[in-house]
Amino acid sequence: MDQRDADVVVVGAGLAGLSAARSLVEEGLDVVVLEARERVGGRIENGFLEGEPVELGGQWVGPGQDEVLGLIAELGLETFPTWTEGVNLFDSSGSVSRYSGTIPKVNPIALAEVMIALKRIGRLSRGMDPARPWTARNADRWDSMSVADWVSRTILTGMARDLIRLAVHAVWAAEPEEISMLHFLAYARSGGSIESLLETEGGAQDSRIVGGSQAIAERMAEDLGERVLTGRPVSAISRDDDAVRVGAIGESFSAQRAIVTVPPALTGRIEWSPALPEDRAGLTASMLPGRATKAMVAYEMPFWREEGLSGNVTSLGSPVSMVFDNSPPSGTPGVLVSFFEASAADRAGAMDDNERRDLVVGNLTRLFGDKASKPVAYVDRCWANEEFSAGCYGAFMPPGAWTSWGRALSEPVGPIHWAGAEVATRWTGYMDGAIRSGKRAARAVEASL
Ligand SMILES: Cc1cc2nc3c(=O)[nH]c(=O)nc-3n(C[C@H](O)[C@H](O)[C@H](O)COP(=O)(O)OP(=O)(O)OC[C@H]3O[C@@H](n4cnc5c(N)ncnc54)[C@H](O)[C@@H]3O)c2cc1C
Repeated sequence: MDQRDADVVVVGAGLAGLSAARSLVEEGLDVVVLEARERVGGRIENGFLEGEPVELGGQWVGPGQDEVLGLIAELGLETFPTWTEGVNLFDSSGSVSRYSGTIPKVNPIALAEVMIALKRIGRLSRGMDPARPWTARNADRWDSMSVADWVSRTILTGMARDLIRLAVHAVWAAEPEEISMLHFLAYARSGGSIESLLETEGGAQDSRIVGGSQAIAERMAEDLGERVLTGRPVSAISRDDDAVRVGAIGESFSAQRAIVTVPPALTGRIEWSPALPEDRAGLTASMLPGRATKAMVAYEMPFWREEGLSGNVTSLGSPVSMVFDNSPPSGTPGVLVSFFEASAADRAGAMDDNERRDLVVGNLTRLFGDKASKPVAYVDRCWANEEFSAGCYGAFMPPGAWTSWGRALSEPVGPIHWAGAEVATRWTGYMDGAIRSGKRAARAVEASL
């Protein structure tokens, strides 16, 4: 077995791992990054439609996400506004209407209930410290219930409940029954407010990156050069008080510290020696990934714009929950992105490729008319089927997990430090959070050496 030494081994070359490595190298440390896939970026990945890059994974950035915006500028990349001009469609159980703004035009009682619920969520989440949700007032109470429990106690109309379910799908790619209410509140707080997570203009979906988001990871990896080793799935990590040994097919890496950035559920697939402490193992077993499939269809032109439509659709009662205009900055080809989320993503992921493509194109044709039935290209990605992601957009805490295991999320285990979008305390689950978590872990490692 080949043996190599470094000061720090970083596991995973997503944004967290690459940011951690970048910071450590700036401090003059000898770093090796081990990435399981043959590419860098993890949950950010570019696909191509008619030669234009499109984002199969994370794509949007918005105000307040200063880390990712700063890094984009530092790497010489640029952003452009999400295509939003025009009227949106609201598709409720097959009946399609038009609206402007963030919330579709629904009956006034349901609308009032949604507005009151958003206000209540804002008030409750303001008391949260996303770094330590278990310390919140009434933390046990919020963690004992799912988001669905809270909705069933506080919201009466079916339409308002459906809209909240849709919002949960859009942010967590999970069902409200699966997520702890404490997690929901702390996560919303980490991004400012639930409104900022949901909004396009001025919110988390405000802008995209010219050349596709994976360019951020690729540029960082270029700078790190031979320190980044792809095709190295880490299968074993052993540790004592002041040293780690990391095993990846046929190679072994020894270091003083390791930063592990793989999504929490995947840390359970690594063989740990000695075994992880009970609270960390409990966390690893309980923190679950959301599930989403992103499908992009290219057309010669963004034909919907000629009809005054933005390309944005919010759907209730359809397997595709959201559609956006995801065309490149030039506007051609015209690209519509469809999202399958939570249980709809489970079903989409089980379909064969042609069946899923037909469903996506058929749905767009129903919404946008006959022109949508003539795509020039198609690409999709089912993230729950990805061996080295196991889901997306991030992982969430089910009821009981924060108050039982939450402290273990960022707490180092001897020489092992943790990073990743899930570990972030600002913009948890987002690209911005992943970068913050990597930089924070790097600072902690530097301080410990
Ligand atoms: C479809 C989708 C849409 C999203 N939309 C947005 C968005 O619009 N805006 C936004 O900000 N965020 C979005 N996100 C979330 C965002 O992409 C992630 O939060 C972020 O990229 C996570 O970075 P990370 O470094 O923490 O984790 P990852 O990117 O998951 O990196 C972990 C790395 O570890 C590697 N790995 C796994 N197991 C091993 C192993 N055993 N050995 C070695 N390496 C291993 C993986 O291959 C991966 O490269 C989205 C994600 C997806 C998938």
